[in-house]
Amino acid sequence: MALLNENYLKLKAGYLFPEIGRRTANFAVSHPEAAIIKMGIGDVVRGIPRPVADAMKDACEELAHDESFHGYPPAQGYDFLLDAIAEHEFGSRGVTVAADEIFLSDGAKCDSANLQEIFAIDQIVALTDPVYPVYCDSNVMAGRTGDADSSGRYAGLVYLPCTADNGFSPPLPEGHVDLIYLCSPNNPTGAVMSKQDLARWVDYARREKAVIIFDAAYEAYINDAEIPHSIYEIDGAREVAIEMRSYSKTAGFTGVRCAFTVVPKELLGGTRGDGDVSLHSLWNRRQSTKYNGVSYPVQRGAAACYTPEGSAAVRDLVEFYMGNAALMKTELTAAGYTVFGGDNAPYLWIVCPPGIDSWGFFDVLLQKANVVSTPGAGFGSAGEGYVRLSAFQQRDRVEEALERIRQL
Ligand SMILES: *Cc1c(COP(=O)(O)O)cnc(C)c1O
Repeated sequence: MALLNENYLKLKAGYLFPEIGRRTANFAVSHPEAAIIKMGIGDVVRGIPRPVADAMKDACEELAHDESFHGYPPAQGYDFLLDAIAEHEFGSRGVTVAADEIFLSDGAKCDSANLQEIFAIDQIVALTDPVYPVYCDSNVMAGRTGDADSSGRYAGLVYLPCTADNGFSPPLPEGHVDLIYLCSPNNPTGAVMSKQDLARWVDYARREKAVIIFDAAYEAYINDAEIPHSIYEIDGAREVAIEMRSYSKTAGFTGVRCAFTVVPKELLGGTRGDGDVSLHSLWNRRQSTKYNGVSYPVQRGAAACYTPEGSAAVRDLVEFYMGNAALMKTELTAAGYTVFGGDNAPYLWIVCPPGIDSWGFFDVLLQKANVVSTPGAGFGSAGEGYVRLSAFQQRDRVEEALERIRQL
């Protein structure tokens, strides 16, 4: 019999969203009259901006003709998109990222899961608690951890608790770590890292020769002009950081699939022998071996996000969701809840009422308000005592959900 990769058997999570689904489905069966409003899973609900959809349609038409057909795309992406990203996402903010340092992919989820592959198995990984589960589970699958304890923490990982006391900003580890996953604006807490916060981390990584994997999937949601959109706004970050972005939450691409990862040429990894190696060349090798690129129509759609009409439409979409977030924060605060996040991120991180844990408050919201949230404990033990509400919903649904929560 073929033996399994038993690291998969250590996984605890993957349990969160199925359990939310199970409880929601059970409630729906026993209460068929309830109009359930989903504000749990972070998927967007509004249509793709018209100029972006039109660009994809036109590109599909090109594919139907021999003269304008496109087969396999270039490994990192078409120049028309890589150049537009380098200019509009980075150059316009005074950040230097060259087009050939950008790798397109079908998602920041896959990239954040796959990046660990190019590092040695015995490297020490630091994660925030609470955390986007992908960073953790991909390292568990790879065999970089022992078993999980009763609180769900895996032996061998370094956890950085993000709590109200530290403003949900990850504290530096006490000792040495090799790989650090940071996410700002943060899913699930909705917190953002300031320039000083990020500079502290870049400084740590330079001192410890560590690598930061920086997930900026929500950078378009930043309102505060002082908050960095890219880790490369910090001096010295190009030697220590990889950055991930995605069109999923900004342009409605959760189903279309397009993202990108920046690996600066200066970024080096060590070897057991002598001589450091460029991570750019390793990631290039990994991607060109295991992946065949983003489809032409999707790349045309992504590029349309940078035209004047496209960028205005993307901005409108983001502002719509942030309008929801502002309404939710105001109303929930007025109703007596303590609410974090929601100012520079489409997530609100809400303190559970006294005496109720996060699954308990999840059940109250589901059963009494027919609103689906995400229990904070599902993102890590430091998430206990919170639920996450997402601003990705239609306005009338948000208003209805808030009205029902007010009546609790
Ligand atoms: C949604 C999300 C992403 C984006 O994932 P895609 O695979 O690009 O859809 C990445 N990181 C975090 C933290 C997210 O919440």
